[in-house]
Amino acid sequence: MRKNIEIKETLSENKLFDSLTRSAFEFLSRAIAEFENSAKFSTIHFAIAIELFLKARLMCEHWSLLLDKPDHSSKESFFKGDAKTVSPDQAIERLRRIAQVIVPEPFKEIFRKIAEHRNKMVHFIHAGEDEADGLDGRQRIVEEQCAGWLALRTLLAEWPEFSGYKTDIWRISVSMERYRPYLQKAFEAKADELRRHRAQGGRVIECPSCRFASVMVSESDDAVADANCTVCRFFHGAEIKVKCENNNCDEVIHFTSYEGRPSQCPSCDTVLSEKYVRDFLDTGEEITHDNYFDFMPISCSSCTGYHAVVKHHDRYVCTECFETAESYSVCDYCNEAQLGSVPEDSGWSGCEFCDGRAGNISDD
Ligand SMILES: [Zn+2]
Ligand SMILES: [Zn+2]
Ligand SMILES: [Zn+2]
Ligand SMILES: [Zn+2]
Repeated sequence: MRKNIEIKETLSENKLFDSLTRSAFEFLSRAIAEFENSAKFSTIHFAIAIELFLKARLMCEHWSLLLDKPDHSSKESFFKGDAKTVSPDQAIERLRRIAQVIVPEPFKEIFRKIAEHRNKMVHFIHAGEDEADGLDGRQRIVEEQCAGWLALRTLLAEWPEFSGYKTDIWRISVSMERYRPYLQKAFEAKADELRRHRAQGGRVIECPSCRFASVMVSESDDAVADANCTVCRFFHGAEIKVKCENNNCDEVIHFTSYEGRPSQCPSCDTVLSEKYVRDFLDTGEEITHDNYFDFMPISCSSCTGYHAVVKHHDRYVCTECFETAESYSVCDYCNEAQLGSVPEDSGWSGCEFCDGRAGNISDD
């Protein structure tokens, strides 16, 4: 017993980061391995893994950010594992405010969904079994975990702090394969629809979440087209097509809003720069001396890309995360124009870019 405490006491910050991360991978493997036996424990362990990854990333900024109430705890009690730590929502919020590390809205949504599911299963003894009873129930949980893993692996690939864990990431991706049979039926049920879409010249691409060739790209003359998975409910985004900048190359480069802009043309290796893609997608009015004061730069509320949104024909698209919307709104408090809508009471509660009146009153 005494020995155990001594080990905890000597944990350095690097070791704690490694310990949180390895624990997260362990919970993920367990979640996948035990799915057949218990959808309940699979969901609970998956949710714990998400929480641990977020904590590990926050830990890279400073260990004290993990404390629920930093004023009430000491470093010693924290490293012994005695202090109360942040919730996943708090961790995401602190990452945004303090480290400017953004977890995009669709990822937050799926993390929240898995956490809600976990709470239900923890509180009600039969919740897990009941839900997983039919194939439909199991399929829903599988879809959820596929989307959860897509979000996690996208973040882990983006965060350089996790570059030492490529083998673990690969191992989890391989073990996710055991979920495919649960979605096979849903895929087969859509086969005719997908075939018709193809026959009419439509594009079908692989879903980055469930990995079936099941994403139907809608017909569009524009460079931005809606792309939705017909098998899992979680993949809905856009496919972008951009002509290669090299005039001697005919390549039309396709990428989804999830993958983001590739760094170069797959055919001739010409760099595909952010500026080029932005100019390519921007079909809005050119800014001149005459309309300068009417022009409103738009930011992205999903990835907080500052003035990253351009008008593309009849919709708006973020050139950083490729989220799209038909309109934009302006926050009543900070006047920042942003893609999609702002909270209804933005003057009071604020938006992604400000804390509103409420936040500023409590600071005084
Ligand atoms: Zn899918
Ligand atoms: Zn090219
Ligand atoms: Zn964005
Ligand atoms: Zn605002």
